[in-house]
Amino acid sequence: MDELRLKLAIQKSGRLTDPSLDLLLRCGLKISRGKDQLMAYGENMPLDVLFVRDDDIPDLVQEDVCDLGLVGRNVLEEKRLELAARGHPARFQPVRTLDFGRCRLALAVPEGTAFEGPRTLRGKRIATTYPFLLENYLRERDVAAEIVTLSGAVEIAPRLGRADLICDLVSTGSTLQANHLREVETVLESHAVLIRTPLGLPPVKDEWVQRLLMRIDGVQQVRESKYIMLHAPRAALGEIRKLLPGSESPTIIPLEGFPDRVAIHAVCRENVFWETLESLKKAGASALLVLPVEKMLA
Ligand code: ATP
Ligand code: ZN
Repeated sequence: MDELRLKLAIQKSGRLTDPSLDLLLRCGLKISRGKDQLMAYGENMPLDVLFVRDDDIPDLVQEDVCDLGLVGRNVLEEKRLELAARGHPARFQPVRTLDFGRCRLALAVPEGTAFEGPRTLRGKRIATTYPFLLENYLRERDVAAEIVTLSGAVEIAPRLGRADLICDLVSTGSTLQANHLREVETVLESHAVLIRTPLGLPPVKDEWVQRLLMRIDGVQQVRESKYIMLHAPRAALGEIRKLLPGSESPTIIPLEGFPDRVAIHAVCRENVFWETLESLKKAGASALLVLPVEKMLA
């Protein structure tokens, strides 16, 4: 195996797989992936992608089997606490917060059960696949409860009589609702994270890590960004600039034959909604055009 190629671990099949592959694709990576293959070869970058279970990603990176990994903060923090309990520091290093995989680790009680803050948990049995995060949460609040560690299907534990409540990942809440559970407390807010090995890399590899990071920043910036063009009365410039969401320095261009009007071009770092366009029009703007931004490099 080529020692000068970067190895990046992502989830093989699950919620993080598509958004992870999409991010790499937007960073310009072309890979060939056979179904069920463990590794995909980067055709246009010295970077190969390893497909593994998400729980294995922190170890693979910290043991230097992979240089980089894309994994949920929930998995990382659970691993960090597990290592700490065994007297080891976590050695993987988070390098970027990513804009996908958003969810939260939350406590949920069966519908119709009262909940009056963490002390309600005293003496209760709580089912979870995140025993270390839950234990940490309970310890910080000085509550003694029983942690029932499961490997999956946490949401049905109360109905099976295995627990009084659960501590599980939630994004929309529809799974909880389907299981007649009510979310009551957030234990951890989560999103996907890019982690790297603690070890120094040879310069060629390190340079590619830096390039990848820059491209990731660019991709994340443009996802929300829009390019807006409009005509406006010179007199309304101040008001119109205030209405442009998240734009720093718009370009102002004189309009041939219209001394009182200018064209304004700006990159908006937030989405531009119909309401904004309507306010701009009210302020005297015309010929409004909003375009998606494809790539950005600061
Ligand atoms: P694996 O087989 O890789 O162990 P898994 O069952 O642990 O898969 P998934 O359910 O695919 O994992 O979730 C992967 C990650 O996606 C989670 O660790 C979390 O960071 C994120 N995630 C986002 N929303 C949710 C959600 N509603 N439920 C569970 N995980 C979510
Ligand atoms: Zn997992």
